[in-house]
Amino acid sequence: MSKNKSSESVKVVVRCRPLNRKEESNGPAGGIVQMDLRLGQVILRNPRAPPSEPQKTFTFDAVYDANSKQRELYDESVRPLIDSVLAGFNGTIFAYGQTGTGKTYTMQGAWLDPEKQGVIPNAFDHIFTHISRSQSDKQYLVRASYLEIYREEIRDLLDPNHGNTRGLELRESPETRVYVQDLTSCVCKSIKEIEEVMNVGNQARAVGTTDMNEYSSRSHALFLITVECSQPGPDGRKHIRVGRLNLVDLAGSERQAKTGVQGERLKEAAKINLSLSALGNVISALADGRSSHVPYRDSKLTRLLQDSLGGNAKTVMVATLGPAPQHYDETLTTLRYANRAKNIQNQPRVNEDPKDALLREFQKEIARLRAQLNHRMWRSKQKKEQLDDESCDRDGGDEDTECEEGEMEKEAEEYVKMEEERLEKEKEAIREDQFLMTEEKQRLLGEKEKMMGDLRKEQEATEQLTAKYKAMESKLLVGGKNIIDHTNEQQKMLEMKRQEIAEQSRREREIQQQMFSQDEETLELRETFTSLQQEVEAKTKKLKKLYAKLQCIKAEIKDVNDEHVRSRQELEQTQNELTRELKFKYLIIENFIPPEEKNKIMNRLTFDPEEDQWKFKPFVSAESKSSQMKKRPVSAVGYKRPISQYARVAIAMGPHSRYRAENIMFLELDVTPPSTSSVDRSAEAEPNQSPPLDQSPTKDEGVCRSRSWCQTQKSLTSSSSTNSLTACHAATPTVAM
Ligand code: ADP
Ligand code: MG
Repeated sequence: MSKNKSSESVKVVVRCRPLNRKEESNGPAGGIVQMDLRLGQVILRNPRAPPSEPQKTFTFDAVYDANSKQRELYDESVRPLIDSVLAGFNGTIFAYGQTGTGKTYTMQGAWLDPEKQGVIPNAFDHIFTHISRSQSDKQYLVRASYLEIYREEIRDLLDPNHGNTRGLELRESPETRVYVQDLTSCVCKSIKEIEEVMNVGNQARAVGTTDMNEYSSRSHALFLITVECSQPGPDGRKHIRVGRLNLVDLAGSERQAKTGVQGERLKEAAKINLSLSALGNVISALADGRSSHVPYRDSKLTRLLQDSLGGNAKTVMVATLGPAPQHYDETLTTLRYANRAKNIQNQPRVNEDPKDALLREFQKEIARLRAQLNHRMWRSKQKKEQLDDESCDRDGGDEDTECEEGEMEKEAEEYVKMEEERLEKEKEAIREDQFLMTEEKQRLLGEKEKMMGDLRKEQEATEQLTAKYKAMESKLLVGGKNIIDHTNEQQKMLEMKRQEIAEQSRREREIQQQMFSQDEETLELRETFTSLQQEVEAKTKKLKKLYAKLQCIKAEIKDVNDEHVRSRQELEQTQNELTRELKFKYLIIENFIPPEEKNKIMNRLTFDPEEDQWKFKPFVSAESKSSQMKKRPVSAVGYKRPISQYARVAIAMGPHSRYRAENIMFLELDVTPPSTSSVDRSAEAEPNQSPPLDQSPTKDEGVCRSRSWCQTQKSLTSSSSTNSLTACHAATPTVAM
């Protein structure tokens, strides 16, 4: 199952958007973010600090400044990931940053302008172009799902009723893959179809946006694409590779002011960024490398991204920044977050022949339908040949030929036509036959009508089957066949060149970064000093440099501490508010709910760790329902049925039958010895009549008892008891025949 089991780190790229009009009008201060594209560095200036304070520098896999094009980012940083997904790896791209810094712009962009299309539309194009250009022995199945996480609830954006239904649940498959249960997944045959899926989901989100202020920046959107590819392996068998791509547009990372909110709003505030802070904790734990526990289970988002962070996936994180001075704190936090994520190690591997591949099921179903169709057609063909033979006998003969599928279809159609004509002719003949009685004619005509009806039904069924088969087959994309590739050779070359350039610039940057870090280390080794004075100077210079570095790190520590204190204070505040809320609820419970009611509820509650909430236990568990029902109710200890206190006393007082719970009438069991004579054969002829009871060899206890109830033999032959007995006999396999 695993191949290529090497580890690689999460790729982190940073993108800064241009100043917007409002920020420009705020003053000439300009942006606080500078970028060194060659080295992949971001330099951040603190607008509140004195100019002497050193600027903060962060290095990433790539950086994109305000002038960067969507295409550049895609070709350099995303294309290799999508290629991996097409080869059967899991891949994740997520955009992280403050609201309004360009997460949605990066992920989706402006759909109508090809220059401004974001990662998602470019990925669609990439995937389907790849399929159309691949070899024809490959079969593909592309599926898409779209969900969002809002207030820790997963909503299916492709389900028209998603607003009204409860959130979806997360499940873990035996291969320890986390998935969303009952999530709609649409099979897409073309770029147009997958775009349609995206649009449907975006519209569902848009409705939410109008309902609630700031909705979209509070929810995380995940677009999931599964690409399954089947290809014959060297062993001749078809192997399936499944690549899963998660495209994630996270909620805005800025802190929400929580002051003064209560009740529902407080709960919302507590939940709103739970996923995001859990994501931060997961990243910290993974980047740290020392903590054995990674808190994936703390939120829905982290569970869904479990594979993408430290698991079986290749991951690209795009951190987005705004250049405005007023957002310095947020920008710094984003950069720190991104910087930490660089250290996460993943272990991507190709998903080969997983059990849950849908493509295999499709292939099986298609083969089954094909076999069914072939069988039907073969049958029709056989019948036609019979007809042909009959006519051959009459007009001279025709030899049998083996025919192909297409011919078989034609023959089947011809057979139907011939059969219809034949029936029509026969009907005509019956109508014109003067020797037949009218009744006989009617009967024969009716028969022929029925045959015609059957024939039509058969034909309809075949047509339905064909339609189903064709629909299924069309969903599988065959390399180089289903999509016509309109691009000409020149365009292909252009694309190739662009990819090469992107690859080259990426490598160049890597080498530059390496050189930069090596320079610092080896500088000292290369230095030789001619005089003591020179040595002192050089060392002083170095000391100064190191001192500056030390100051930088000290400032960093102070910053981190401050941030830590701030977030702790916020958490404490939330905790205080929640405690107050809890006390209020306690007060109501203690004073207004009867203790026994409370106990009843408490006893029924269980905690579901899967869903992270308390649930009511069912009164009777599903599997023990049947066995429990047979048990005596607790209210009737020692008796077959509940008996009132009065009745119990009355029973104790004397044998008054009114209060007797059982054996109200004392009837002796009938102890007639079992008869051994065989069943009367004549009874078999008329199955509705049961054999006389005393002759039946399977006379069971039930029969005896009912006799003892009624005492007389006659009453047994009454219709109702006869019926029940017949039923009883029918159900008993040991009835002697
Ligand atoms: P977010 O999703 O992070 O809240 P958006 O993607 O909605 O932010 O971006 C906010 C605004 O900034 C949009 O109007 C978008 O067009 C613009 N914008 C973002 N990034 C860029 C960029 N790189 N170049 C030009 N405009 C951008
Ligand atoms: Mg957005």
